Amino acid sequence: MPIYEFRCNACQQVSSFFVRTVNDPLSPTCPVCGDSSLERCISRFAVHKTTKSVWEESGEPTMFPKDRDYYKDPRNIGRYTEKRLKDLGIDMDSEEYRDTFAGVKDTIAAAREGELPKTLKDQL
Ligand SMILES: [Zn+2]
Repeated sequence: MPIYEFRCNACQQVSSFFVRTVNDPLSPTCPVCGDSSLERCISRFAVHKTTKSVWEESGEPTMFPKDRDYYKDPRNIGRYTEKRLKDLGIDMDSEEYRDTFAGVKDTIAAAREGELPKTLKDQL
């Protein structure tokens, strides 16, 4: 079943909609604010992908802070991952991805409690 992503012109929220057939006339409304002026996004996630393929396609991290002291504050651990996934339209708390990213979330949570994380890639 194809998934189309639409961005709401009113609140910029991107939402996914399941479509029964490609020809199914679709007039989605924003689940966040109810606005109906939604624009189709080019979805990178038209099919469900594994964590590993998402990670690979997301490329190497280029936005890690240069300052290594950044991660001496455990609250910063995982921020990049969360941001990157958000940029890709993945909500780790959503029903669709909750199970997929449960390990990632646990690692981030543990790191913030002061536990040294294994590298993220080892878990995928
Ligand atoms: Zn909206």
